[in-house]
Order: sequence, then C-alpha cells, then structure tokens
Amino acid sequence: MTTATKKQWKPFSRAKVCPLCEKPDRCLYTDDGAIRCFRTTGEVAGHRIVKTCSDHTVIYRPDDGNETTKRSRTVQPATNPLEWGKEAARLAAAITPQQLDALAARLQLPTFALTAIDCGWASRADLKRLKVFGKDWDQDYPDGAYSFPERDGHLRVIGIGFRAVDGRKGCPKGCDVA
Ligand SMILES: [Zn+2]
Repeated sequence: MTTATKKQWKPFSRAKVCPLCEKPDRCLYTDDGAIRCFRTTGEVAGHRIVKTCSDHTVIYRPDDGNETTKRSRTVQPATNPLEWGKEAARLAAAITPQQLDALAARLQLPTFALTAIDCGWASRADLKRLKVFGKDWDQDYPDGAYSFPERDGHLRVIGIGFRAVDGRKGCPKGCDVA
C-alpha cells in the first residue's frame, strides 16, 4: 500500500459506465474507487459524498468500498404527473401515421387501439431528455422509441413506457414501467 496514491481521474466508457448516472461519458473515476459524477448530486444509496467540487460536480465513494460498478441508487421521480401528461401529448403528436401503422402491424393490433391510448414517438433526443433507459440501452441507445402513456384510475398520465423499434423496453429514471 502506498500512502501517496495518485488521484488520476479516468473517463468512464461504454464498457464501464458511471455507476451513478449510468452514462458512458463525462464522468470520471480513479483506480482507488472515487467517482466524480457530472450529473448526480445529493445522496445516493450505497455511496457517500466525499466532496462537492467548485464546478458543482460531486465526488462519491462506494459505501462498502469494494466496487465502483454497483447499480444501487436512490430513485428520484424525474417529473411530476402533470409534466408526464404534457410529455405524453407531445410525443403522441409527433408520431406519424406510417409509424403507427408499422407498430400496429407488428403488435397485430388495429391502429385505433394505439391512437386510443395516445401511443407516441420519442426521438433519440426526447429519450435522452427524459432520461429513458432500458436493459442494455447503454451499449446500444435506440434512435427512437414508441411511447405508451401509463395512466392511473383517474386517467391521469403517471408515467410513460417506451419500446424501441427492435422491441427493447425502456422507461424514464425513477419510473417503474416494466
Ligand atoms: Zn455520472
């Protein structure tokens, strides 16, 4: 053990994403386990805050001190129900009749079944903005995805589920659409 461990910040990559925001770019880590996340602030389950830098990035260390790949994190609702409704309406306005027909054919549903639930289309930029993630999306982020508003008993939109053209599902951070 050296006492003078050099703090050398290394960038995360697609092969090793930042465990805090789960993105491959911008964030940094050191071999001794510190993580400097450029997107996460505040408490994160399984990590402790070492310090907040002058540029407002936060340096974390895993609480158990054994790895930097842990995926435990606090779930923070990204937006409130009102905003989900707006987003769902915006995405529903963006989908083209061709995209609806293509999805209807794939799901073997009549097109009106999709328009009835306000199925929409999210571009890659929309997905990024809404922080949508799915299993293995980090490795291969979709260029766009169909959106499916999730409603509560009062028909309020409480979240949005997404399905990439290749069928992979995703949902925004903090929402639990399977
Ligand atoms: Zn990060």
